[in-house]
Amino acid sequence: MSKPQHALHFFNTLTRQKENFKPITKNEVRMYTCGPTVYDYAHIGNFRAFLFEDLLKRWLKYRGYKVTHVMNLTDVDDKTIKGSQTQHIPLKQYTEFYAKAFFEDAAILNIEPADYYPRATEHIQEMVSLIQTLLAKSYAYKGEDGSIYFAINKFPNYGKLSKIKTRDLKTGTRVKVDEYAKEEAQDFALWKAYTPEDGEVFWETPLGKGRPGWHVECSAMSMKYLGETFDIHCGGIDNMFPHHENEIAQSEAATGKQFVIYWLHNEHLQVEGQKMAKRFGNFYTLRDLLAKNCDPKVIRYLLLSTHYRQQFNFTFEGLEAAKGAIERLTNLMRRLKDSNGKGNGEKISQLIDKVQRCFGEAMDDDLNISVALASLFDFVRDVNNLLDNNELSKAEAEKVHALLTNFDNVLGVVGNVEVETLPQEGALLIEKREQARKAKDWKTADEIRQQLKALGIVVEDTAQGVRWRREKA
Ligand code: AMP
Ligand code: ZN
Repeated sequence: MSKPQHALHFFNTLTRQKENFKPITKNEVRMYTCGPTVYDYAHIGNFRAFLFEDLLKRWLKYRGYKVTHVMNLTDVDDKTIKGSQTQHIPLKQYTEFYAKAFFEDAAILNIEPADYYPRATEHIQEMVSLIQTLLAKSYAYKGEDGSIYFAINKFPNYGKLSKIKTRDLKTGTRVKVDEYAKEEAQDFALWKAYTPEDGEVFWETPLGKGRPGWHVECSAMSMKYLGETFDIHCGGIDNMFPHHENEIAQSEAATGKQFVIYWLHNEHLQVEGQKMAKRFGNFYTLRDLLAKNCDPKVIRYLLLSTHYRQQFNFTFEGLEAAKGAIERLTNLMRRLKDSNGKGNGEKISQLIDKVQRCFGEAMDDDLNISVALASLFDFVRDVNNLLDNNELSKAEAEKVHALLTNFDNVLGVVGNVEVETLPQEGALLIEKREQARKAKDWKTADEIRQQLKALGIVVEDTAQGVRWRREKA
């Protein structure tokens, strides 16, 4: 659905401001999102990041943009090497297992696939060329250990994303590990010379025998598929430093051009006030939750329904509330399919205009999903009231259904709703129960309610009469 696109705003971490979104090429968006390090199953904190990116992409498409999306797979770094060694299997075999698990999980969560999923191990050549350019331009140098480092004092803009001040840093000291804190900002490794701890993992290249650093992987792969300057780069806030800061340094030093226009970072999913992370042992994988019979659509809804720049706490009560919200949407879509009321064009077209405007304005405002959902559920309540009063014609109901389908193309939590027909046995029981209620025979009415429940049919008594729906297994 298209609309004037100038209304779209995103909070850009680079400027710490909400900015009007204007892609480099009209109507097209090129975006890169840091993908999983395939050393273990992704936890639902990781999936909060991937679901935020999915929501962003779906919203851009809703607004009429053609999106090219690249998500890398980090299949060689400190963690993957360590993992494969612990299991005594080759790196490739180890990472492919978790890459496959990631794709399965992403599909279960209804995440739309990216256009490209480059693997780091398949782009060593591109990384080597990038490092060669940095050496030629004197942004990189070889240390005594044979590794190649990026000299952060040569790049005056170092720190522009994370806002650290390079003059406060010790320059000339080096860090070889992939992950470190802001306070430890130093010259970082682009190419890690081989050491026996790397075992079988190395490449013989003009840079020597060794392997790439983690940060250079994303610079090389993003620019290969999206060009030297592209529109959007996303990731969790933990990746802002050092990963994204180093990506900027490597890419901009090499090309002399701005690397990314909009940097969007999601906040963390927490558990009892602490970031969900492997190293804290406080995480759930998707598989853990599925084993507890949680519905993946409910997990998706929960992870999406808090604004991406707010931390939020994972709880099982939260999942219950999310389940209720999806049921409200699903039930309405079902009811709409067999509505054939007298119609009330004025009221419904006003409600449609209002929800389209409110939902759209909220999402355009840096994906303000909570406000968007609030307007959607006001609409659901109002349409249910019209249905209760038999005020929605077939054509109007179809229009509302199409609108909700459009919204669901963004949310991805309902999908195809089957029209439910009441089995004859159920219809007879509902009829009998109505007679019992009229006769104020509450005991019989309750017994019949139980019989219906056993058939998987739930009845609700409303001011407008009895309503029924199928109970979800
Ligand atoms: P990794 O597999 O560790 O490279 O992480 C994949 C993505 O998940 C990155 O964008 C991380 O920033 C993000 N991430 C990691 N932990 C969390 C969390 N608890 N909440 C939200 N995003 C996270
Ligand atoms: Zn990355």
